[in-house]
Amino acid sequence: MPAPIIKVDAISKSFGSFKVLDGLSMQVMPGEKLALIGPSGSGKTTILRILMTLEKIDGGHIQVDGEQLYHVERNGQLLPADERHLARMRQKIGMVFQLFNLFPHKCVMDNVTLAPMLTKGVARAAAEKRAMELLDMVGLADKAKAMPAQLSGGQKQRVAIARALALSPKIMLFDEVTSALDPELVEEVLNVMRKLAAETDMTMLLVTHEMGFAHDFADRVLFFDRGRIVEEGKPDEIFRHPKQERTQSFLKKII
Ligand code: ADP
Repeated sequence: MPAPIIKVDAISKSFGSFKVLDGLSMQVMPGEKLALIGPSGSGKTTILRILMTLEKIDGGHIQVDGEQLYHVERNGQLLPADERHLARMRQKIGMVFQLFNLFPHKCVMDNVTLAPMLTKGVARAAAEKRAMELLDMVGLADKAKAMPAQLSGGQKQRVAIARALALSPKIMLFDEVTSALDPELVEEVLNVMRKLAAETDMTMLLVTHEMGFAHDFADRVLFFDRGRIVEEGKPDEIFRHPKQERTQSFLKKII
């Protein structure tokens, strides 16, 4: 049995006096596709941002790819990680946000190549070759020279996916990546994610309100409520036969 690629152990996180995550633990196996569902404010985005080191934790531990994320081990002791450690760990993880966050004054090609060139020292020619492969994969090879303002929301989001993939992360996090899109643009982005799930062995965590997609995409579904995982299981178990009353009432409202 392989070791989990993500191990979250009893983490807590508050914003002011509001406890967003309350002793949350979870494990993710390499290559697993996970959907995080649950009511707004239940902490789903926060756990993704914590994994991406965009938020600090107040307590608990996280291991990613066999190493502590927020701590470093010295002489048998766990000490808080410094920025260098966080930056190195961050390279294992890619994230796509609800709002694409492309660099508005850079063309599509530059958006995809900048991070590999700046953070990994990849040469321009190699970065551009890889970027073209990725843009081809998301169906946008012909938009390499376009500026973000010339793209539709769905196209921007596909560039954002290519940009995150350009750093060759082992883990990809998707935070409600279709919820800011016009309905007719949702499918093209979901198609790219289907393709990624089918063609790569990347570990993928997805926060979504698209229950149909979550059902088809995920190996396992986690239902969050008030900063805890209330129920988890295979998509069929969670969507067809939820055991917990809170999962049942959430699904009744949303489906
Ligand atoms: P979900 O993704 O399940 O909707 P979130 O993780 O986004 O939930 O947020 C959980 C709660 O934490 C929300 O009530 C949100 O308002 C609050 N929250 C999130 N980020 C911050 C922040 N940076 N400062 C203050 N409150 C925040």
